[in-house]
Amino acid sequence: MPNLKNPSPPADGYRGRFAPSPTGPLHAGSLVAALGSWLDARQNHGEWLLRIEDVDAPRCIPGADTEIMRQLLACGLTWDEEPTWQSEHQERYKKALERLNGLQTVYPCTCSRQSIANALEARGVATPRNQEMVYPGSCRPQEIHVYEDEKTLPAEMAWRLALPQDLTLQFEDLALGTQSQDLNREVGDFVLRRRDGVFTYQLAVVVDDAEQGITHIVRGADLLNNTARQIHLQHVLGYSTPSYLHLPLVLDEHGEKLSKQTLANAIHTDNAQQSLQELRKAAEHLGLRDLPDGKSTSIAEWLLAATQTWDRKIISS
Ligand code: GLU
Ligand code: ZN
Repeated sequence: MPNLKNPSPPADGYRGRFAPSPTGPLHAGSLVAALGSWLDARQNHGEWLLRIEDVDAPRCIPGADTEIMRQLLACGLTWDEEPTWQSEHQERYKKALERLNGLQTVYPCTCSRQSIANALEARGVATPRNQEMVYPGSCRPQEIHVYEDEKTLPAEMAWRLALPQDLTLQFEDLALGTQSQDLNREVGDFVLRRRDGVFTYQLAVVVDDAEQGITHIVRGADLLNNTARQIHLQHVLGYSTPSYLHLPLVLDEHGEKLSKQTLANAIHTDNAQQSLQELRKAAEHLGLRDLPDGKSTSIAEWLLAATQTWDRKIISS
């Protein structure tokens, strides 16, 4: 007998997630990512998971994770399943790196930022400030082999992924359309584990999204530039590739992305009126129009209306 209370059962396995770094409380920009990914998941009758990306411990602020959870709940953005913390997934990342070593696709790198900058300068390559340096391959051996004996490895070294030649990756962004990136020209062999032993965002995000069976990644456009290398890493590790949708960034009055570095203000969620006000601003940024003004609606009613109005096509315009 069909369950009449639930006329729309989950679409085939939609699993989305919100993956904040606990470097501070949610601000207007991170709320846009949270709301956009939540609405996309809910409209598709999918699950929405919360993963705290605290892999880069030195950048994390104690208590920011609980504050983020409090803010999400105050906005009615509830998650499914128990939240997870990347700091508890070290073993997974280590195994993935060992697999890559077995596949002869990683190599040790002893370069410092300065030595990379010098190597690039010697080749006449200028790297604009604030832009990532394209690794010139200084430590890449002719033939990559399996590194068996840890004792033979340098004490201070990073692990880099060796890219194959001619690797232009194309993917469809559900909002922005076809995207493409020449990984060798724009990125170079990228780091999977840093010299201080910290696994990088690129490795952690790819491993966790696969382990958690994430099918849809909805996040801010500041991460668009990382997507091609993540898809490549999925290919190498034999994972399937989720769908991607990148949301418009919230910029400050100087045209800079809001971030904790620019001391972006935390959203206000001390009462329902404040939370609704923040949600409405985020929704407007996502292009949602004609939503209840929130004066006579509860957060739950407002979110339901927003879920019905949500439309991937309008956010890119
Ligand atoms: N932790 C990342 C951030 O807060 C987001 C990761 C992702 O959504 O892929 O910028
Ligand atoms: Zn190097």
